[in-house]
Amino acid sequence: MSTYFISDLHLDAGRPAATEAFEAFLGGLPAGTDALYILGDLFESWIGDDDDAELPARIATALRATSARGIAVYFMHGNRDFALGQDYAGRCGMTLLPDPCVIDLYGDPTLLMHGDTLCTDDHAYQAFRSQVRNPQWLAHMLSQPLAVRRTFAEQARAGSREHTAMTAESIMDVNDGAVKDSFRRHGVDLLVHGHTHRPAVHRDEVDGRPCTRIVLGDWYEQGVILRADADGRLRLAPLDEL
Ligand code: MN
Repeated sequence: MSTYFISDLHLDAGRPAATEAFEAFLGGLPAGTDALYILGDLFESWIGDDDDAELPARIATALRATSARGIAVYFMHGNRDFALGQDYAGRCGMTLLPDPCVIDLYGDPTLLMHGDTLCTDDHAYQAFRSQVRNPQWLAHMLSQPLAVRRTFAEQARAGSREHTAMTAESIMDVNDGAVKDSFRRHGVDLLVHGHTHRPAVHRDEVDGRPCTRIVLGDWYEQGVILRADADGRLRLAPLDEL
């Protein structure tokens, strides 16, 4: 009885090793695994559920096989794959989760987020986020021909790379006040998120209450994921050590 949390795989046709690692990970999930939570940025980009490229179809097949084994698969949007819709989720046999979302993790209320909303010091990114998460903007984007959307996604990725290169590390990390607010607002003492690619277990106090924030790693080099066991044990470690 265990539950796995992963994020920031950034799967892309140009990095087949990550796709193969993900397929191997799914195939290797032990019998009796209860659930898999994918906390955003499964894909490097998402141009719409009607994308006819090979990668999304291949991942849908692998995820469907996982859910068919009785492992519940949940997906929360990241800042790269925020346009992933109900149609594709259905093909994968996975359930879309809102961000933020509180789950019952073997009796412990646990707050899940992608993590980008915690990076409140990055004003340029937050402005971009409000634009692209606007339902009208998204509907308009998804109504464009696939070729136009591909070009847009490439531009957005180039813009993101430039922004990341130009912005101080501290600005792109989570804001401490935003983290504390999240613990308070949701009344939890455990938070799991990704996005920053800085895997770690942070222990802190919020209003005198001990709180734990677990940050998942990316799959570029780290492959750091979280396993939670039914007895309450939490383990954050590289893929091959779990
Ligand atoms: Mn992200």
